[in-house]
Amino acid sequence: MAEQYKLLFVESFKGRVLFNVPMREYTTLKIGGPADVMAFPRDEADLKHLLSFAGTKGFRVYVIGGGSNMLVRDGGIRGIVVNITEGFTDVSWMDEERAVVGAGVRLSALSRECAERGLGGLEFATGIPATVGGAVCMNAGAYGGEMKDVVEGIEVIGHRGRKGFIPAGKLKFSYRYAELPEGAVIVNVHMKFRKTNKKAIEERTREFKRRRDATTPTGLPSAGSIFKNPDGIPAGKLIEEAGLKGVSSGDAKISEVHANYIVNTGNARAADVLNLIALMRDRVFAKTGIMLEPEIKVIGENI
Ligand SMILES: Cc1cc2nc3c(=O)[nH]c(=O)nc-3n(C[C@H](O)[C@H](O)[C@H](O)COP(=O)(O)OP(=O)(O)OC[C@H]3O[C@@H](n4cnc5c(N)ncnc54)[C@H](O)[C@@H]3O)c2cc1C
Repeated sequence: MAEQYKLLFVESFKGRVLFNVPMREYTTLKIGGPADVMAFPRDEADLKHLLSFAGTKGFRVYVIGGGSNMLVRDGGIRGIVVNITEGFTDVSWMDEERAVVGAGVRLSALSRECAERGLGGLEFATGIPATVGGAVCMNAGAYGGEMKDVVEGIEVIGHRGRKGFIPAGKLKFSYRYAELPEGAVIVNVHMKFRKTNKKAIEERTREFKRRRDATTPTGLPSAGSIFKNPDGIPAGKLIEEAGLKGVSSGDAKISEVHANYIVNTGNARAADVLNLIALMRDRVFAKTGIMLEPEIKVIGENI
């Protein structure tokens, strides 16, 4: 199988290429079987080459940023994982408030840079372990702020290697959702912040950090919220009221700090996490009639 993929990475591909890669090393949950291939395109030419080749040969392509909203099944991934964190890491300032930001830039680092420049709008992002591309894809948000408030548009490369620009209005942002064309990889994000008093930014950031520290399980691997909040009701409250805080399956455990988080207490398998997800969904439905919708993306194969 590896031989088949090796054909893709002719000498002109500048980035790193790894074969048979344990996905647990690339997800914040520290779970996931091996991916056939992980490629780290260095620039747009690399990515175009990879996507058009994969398209021609019919290989499946998956994109990963920070891996902080992902559960990879134990059988791993048949296909190519595109890891955008080793290219696409430039931030180019267009004027005092506007920047074109590489999709592989860490969201928290960008939030810090904005604070230093006296630019407001990204205070909510402190502590979200995302890349900018992943955060757009999920319309990540917290404490009343969301990516949609600061995104003007995105540059993408499509599955046959074609480049395009999508203005924010066409992304149909909603709660933890953005509509991307099938197979499109975000390479750059056009963002607009607003000049704000530095002290006010610092205060907001400190307050959000305090709230996050008080409500987020720290010290153990997790993938953020498992379910979306249905109609503004905190999913964590529904799961807690269903009596599930602290319940385990293997080494996966419903957090005692926040019931909408599952933590990996050791060597949890994806199957353990999926057991808990089914239990949370079924118990909440039985008690309230509300069917929770997953926020976390589940990919890959069962063993
Ligand atoms: C401790 C912790 C706290 C968290 N707190 C929050 C929070 O407060 N608010 C919140 O919204 N989320 C939170 N999350 C969840 C997560 O950080 C966000 O969903 C984040 O936006 C995911 O970004 P990522 O780069 O890790 O994406 P990944 O998990 O790598 O990918 C998520 C999805 O985006 C796609 N994707 C990634 N990059 C690209 C790209 N360049 N082009 C196209 N598609 C792409 C992937 O294919 C996948 O479908 C938290 C997670 C953790 C572990």
